[in-house]
Amino acid sequence: MIFEKRVALVTGASSGIGRATAIKLAQNGAIVIATDINEEMGAETISMIEQDGGKAKYYHMDVADKAAVKATILQAVSDFGPIKLAVNNAGIGGAFAPTHQVQDEDWDRMMAINVSGVFYCMREEIDCMLHHGGGSIVNVSSLAGLNGFGGNGPYSAAKHAVLGLTKSAGQEYATLGIRVNAVCPGAIRTPIIHEQAEEMFQKMVKSRVPMKRFGQAGEVANTIAWLLSEEASFLTGTSVNIDGGFQA
Ligand code: NAP
Repeated sequence: MIFEKRVALVTGASSGIGRATAIKLAQNGAIVIATDINEEMGAETISMIEQDGGKAKYYHMDVADKAAVKATILQAVSDFGPIKLAVNNAGIGGAFAPTHQVQDEDWDRMMAINVSGVFYCMREEIDCMLHHGGGSIVNVSSLAGLNGFGGNGPYSAAKHAVLGLTKSAGQEYATLGIRVNAVCPGAIRTPIIHEQAEEMFQKMVKSRVPMKRFGQAGEVANTIAWLLSEEASFLTGTSVNIDGGFQA
């Protein structure tokens, strides 16, 4: 098992890509610190992992709350030992609006969760890894972090910021035993694609995705696990698109 007994933190682990990633890492021997704000679904993730013979514990952690991020990570390290693998995945989709109609509260919430949330987690994870022999981090950006996303500028801006943090940290810690990479998923079938966006994504998949289908959360989890692993030992500060060919 490639992650035998390594402690792995996953944010947004109650649903979608985060849940699939938590399961994948546990299947590969990791002890998973599964964090989210959805307690009930978090408990489901844990029981799925345990039924599979894996080890995981749920921690309630709002990534936008920097004090909570610090306290939770300290608690998890005291419970299980230093974090060696981290997946900063928690995120929200958007209030869709053209730029001149974006509301303050929608902008602020998007930045708080999708940008500050990733930054707060990275800061604690890197500090821990620097003091305990290194590690590997994967941030979840999006195709919207590489392209404009007309009608959802705040989401696109936030996901561009995630790539900026990834590239910068990739440079900073390259000789210090910490690799930092990102994934850019395209249209992935998870609960984030709620009714409002469903029709738009269906159209996009039909017209712009060469594979003509949505991706599955497990397909993203497979790539994240590979990036975290030693198989990806010469990759840092970069991102991998998981998009059925969209970006080509
Ligand atoms: P999802 O199924 O909605 O999962 C996101 C999880 O994050 C949910 O459990 C959500 O809880 C949780 N969360 C929301 N705000 C949080 C906070 N402040 N602190 C901690 N957890 C929080 O969506 P997903 O598709 O798996 O999304 C995971 C990541 O992939 C996101 O960063 C998203 O932007 C990115 N992504 C998704 C797609 C796609 O097509 N699905 C494409 C590109 C990128 P609640 O359900 O209670 O809100």
